[in-house]
Amino acid sequence: MRGLASVPSYVVMQPTTLCNLDCAYCYLPFRAADRRMPVAVAEAVAASVNRWASAGRFSVVWHGGEPLAAGREQLAALMAPFAPEVEHHVQTNATLVDDSWCEFFAAHRMRVSVSVDGPRERNGERVTRAGRPAYDRIVRGVAALRRHGLPFSALAVVNDPSPGRATELYDYFLDLGCEVLGVNIEETEGVNTRANAHDAAAVTGFWAELVSAWRRDPRIHLREVEWSLRYAGAVLDGTADDLLPGRLDPIPTVAYDGSVVVLSPELAGFTDPRYGDFTSGSVLSTPLHTILAGAGRTAWVGEFIDGVEACRSSCPYFGFCGGGHAANRYFELGRFDGTETEHCRNSKIRLLEGVLEHARDHQSPGA
Ligand code: SF4
Repeated sequence: MRGLASVPSYVVMQPTTLCNLDCAYCYLPFRAADRRMPVAVAEAVAASVNRWASAGRFSVVWHGGEPLAAGREQLAALMAPFAPEVEHHVQTNATLVDDSWCEFFAAHRMRVSVSVDGPRERNGERVTRAGRPAYDRIVRGVAALRRHGLPFSALAVVNDPSPGRATELYDYFLDLGCEVLGVNIEETEGVNTRANAHDAAAVTGFWAELVSAWRRDPRIHLREVEWSLRYAGAVLDGTADDLLPGRLDPIPTVAYDGSVVVLSPELAGFTDPRYGDFTSGSVLSTPLHTILAGAGRTAWVGEFIDGVEACRSSCPYFGFCGGGHAANRYFELGRFDGTETEHCRNSKIRLLEGVLEHARDHQSPGA
């Protein structure tokens, strides 16, 4: 893995900075402001994306803020420039989802991922701008998706990986009816400065327990566990070196104003005395494919690639992790060329150890 690929596997788009919720752990700096993406930005992005999509599967992920806060009319206008073969995904808090939105998702073949942290008592930090719990509204939105027969994924944030939490979480999502589940241990990034250090054994135990819960009833695609099992299988087959891509996926985030930040959406909207505003250009003045061709020359990106190489030469988990995320390094270490972060301990190292702990605990006698 050397340098950035010039073609990403997907593009993240920010139709508005606004979010109608105000979750305590949110990283977004401008979530109280409604800064909308003009259609000219979507047209500029589509000019590159439609070329990529004609050569193979390609996705646009509408992220926020809360993307549905832009409204159906605005979102439809932003999606219109993209070719029919482009797949559209949306990451939503589901509080605005109703029958009309479900009809919109179906008409646009949009894939929906819902942010919800488990049962009601685990969503205490997901609140409206007035500070009221958002859980009932989230569940109403999910009920609308189910009523319309729309498959959905879910994304849960965990900030207390204590014993019993993983089983509770998995059982909750089995009932909720999602097809795919991603689990994030809360991260210190953006405007969320809360510490994310946890007891190592507790986090490893959390992941091991999650594997046990999943194996009892593996109806849900459990993102992190499937990654780990794929890696473990490749190690056993001697093909683990083939799992990491040759070059880093640049994963461009196009902010509401057309500015492009590669690698980590969480850096969008921030500035730093050393690194500036982290952007690699604007699609309003330069085509996205041209921006990505030169993104490796963005000062902080070069430093991040040095950090990835430092991981490669020092970390036994590199083959699984690939060097972690730029935003975690920056917000935890203040620079991009460090290596271990609390995030990578929680969500890479202890994840893999948890899966191995589960495997050891369930070895058949004499094996
Ligand atoms: S686990 Fe951490 S230290 Fe190891 S490769 Fe990943 S980011 Fe780097």
